[in-house]
Amino acid sequence: MILVLKPNVDETTREYQRLESHLTNLTSIEFRVHHVQGHEQLLTEIYLIGNTAALSLEEMRSFPGVDHAVRVSEEYRVLGRHKDDTRPSEFTYNGVRFGQDNLNVFAGLCAVDSPESVEAMMKALQENGQVCTRMGAYKPRTSPYSFQGHGKNCLKYVFELAGKYGIKVIAMEVTHESHVDEINDALDATGRPTGVMLQIGTRNTQNFELLKSVGRQQEFPVLLKRGFGITLDESLHAAEYLASEGNQKVVFGLRGMKTNIGDPHRNMVDFAHIPVVKRITRMPVCIDPSHSVGTRSRSSDGILDILHVTAQGVIAGANMILVDFHPYPNKAVVDGPQALRLEELPAFLEDVRMVREVFEKRVQLYRGESTAVGS
Ligand code: PEP
Ligand code: MN
Repeated sequence: MILVLKPNVDETTREYQRLESHLTNLTSIEFRVHHVQGHEQLLTEIYLIGNTAALSLEEMRSFPGVDHAVRVSEEYRVLGRHKDDTRPSEFTYNGVRFGQDNLNVFAGLCAVDSPESVEAMMKALQENGQVCTRMGAYKPRTSPYSFQGHGKNCLKYVFELAGKYGIKVIAMEVTHESHVDEINDALDATGRPTGVMLQIGTRNTQNFELLKSVGRQQEFPVLLKRGFGITLDESLHAAEYLASEGNQKVVFGLRGMKTNIGDPHRNMVDFAHIPVVKRITRMPVCIDPSHSVGTRSRSSDGILDILHVTAQGVIAGANMILVDFHPYPNKAVVDGPQALRLEELPAFLEDVRMVREVFEKRVQLYRGESTAVGS
């Protein structure tokens, strides 16, 4: 059961303390208090765990500080959608809103290789009105002999250049909890010119200790990639690890599944699951067409497969696109062959804009046919 308290509740009041002592005295029930900082108000949610079937919703709702109470009927307690659940499906970070009803593009480098590449990329993004990017500093590689990323050594110039070109959010993978501290320190050292969305890669989707530590910090939002060889349910539970530790600013990323049936693409594209994730959880959904497709193959219609699957994701309601670009793909040290080129950026953005417009028209077309999410 979830108790959503009235906004900006003061935890020092007698009302709040009466509720807290009531909950403490319940047998076989534990509770966790979560704070969600919204645009204008602080929301407090109390998660009751244990034998909550014995509790009366009416009684819980009658406590003066309680705005509403939700009986959790589904698995994904914090991030799931439940009956009569009015909790938000959006959050704002560093001035950028992430919701199930909008779309942000994160075009950028799979791996940071040089300040020149970073600067060329960011300059192009600014010229094309973009405020988000991807920049890999810590790269999880199949072979220990492959380039592992510049790590903390590149963070300062990446953040400074982001500030110079007006980039507000950088998606950056972390593979160890110490990377979060390194990112925080580098942001401090550069005067916090930008923001970071921590990315948990597909190889770490079930690294539970990493999830717990990234979930305990509430400074940075998190992009959690779906595990490439596990069920959707298992990946959604991984997202719950982040949220159950307190961080609800989570975007769920689809990036294709590892199976030979996906050949000739690097992975089997799974963007048909966008509406599924939006229906059963409150998370905005990201697509990664680059790591799904993995090649620059072009169809007989002249369009790259990466662009086709991007459009397929956008028309199904994707909320974020994480996509590899590189100013000098021949020199890229990681995933050069799948990178789009800077001169392709304007057409890419126009394509996304056109398809998003069609998605919005589709929503209008079917409005009124359904009365509730999932019906
Ligand atoms: C990436 O986005 O750089 C990456 C390695 O993705 P994934 O974890 O999906 O393979
Ligand atoms: Mn890559």
